[in-house]
Amino acid sequence: MVDATLSLEQLADANQQLADQSPERILRWAIAEFFPQLTMATAFGPEGNCIIHLLAGLEPRVRIFNLETGYQFQETLELRERIKDRYGIEVEYVRAEMSVPEYEEEHGGPLYRIAPDQCCYDRKVVPLRQALVGHRAWISAIRKDQTADRARADVVQWDSKFNLVKVNPLLNWTKKDVWKFIATHDVPYNPLHDQGYPSIGCWPCTRAVANGEDDRSGRWSGTAKRECGLHVLEHQDGSGI
Ligand code: SF4
Repeated sequence: MVDATLSLEQLADANQQLADQSPERILRWAIAEFFPQLTMATAFGPEGNCIIHLLAGLEPRVRIFNLETGYQFQETLELRERIKDRYGIEVEYVRAEMSVPEYEEEHGGPLYRIAPDQCCYDRKVVPLRQALVGHRAWISAIRKDQTADRARADVVQWDSKFNLVKVNPLLNWTKKDVWKFIATHDVPYNPLHDQGYPSIGCWPCTRAVANGEDDRSGRWSGTAKRECGLHVLEHQDGSGI
């Protein structure tokens, strides 16, 4: 058993059965299998908002949280309020132990330029790890076509980095599918997407992209970094790739 009741073989079977199913069907399975020990992390991206819309209809009590690094755009923080107004779902803020002023004082200034991996680790990965304690599964909004690592993910998989099951209901959706769903259901989204920001993280590490540029090229622009470390697969030895 990797989970309290599921073996790796059972997870592989579930993945096989759900691999080509709709996000709604995948979420229904996850709720039946894991709720209330089921949670979701969201950065209020368009994909995550589609999942919140679905969860509002299926099981609005699923705990949803946002990693509030202290460096998020004002538009992102306001989106949390718009989601609360629309769905009655209050996305919980999960924060690092130190506030931004404390953190920057400790390190003699911000780390996002000189050591973004450490900054992401301290302000996202560590709080995420703590937030996942007590849960058997978490829902993420990754899509296969976003990065090479994400292309290798499964709809249902064991997350050895955080030691729980990871459910990726939108894995097979394209960007077009996401925006079609948003338009059809009038799902709230971040206004920055209409201003050239296809992928939005913290403001110091996100820039608008030009036409034809990769969607994630505006994240940690000028560096090789493309992930904050939450969705990076691990080698057998546990090192992130
Ligand atoms: S995205 Fe940038 S500011 Fe946000 S946690 Fe990572 S390095 Fe820090």
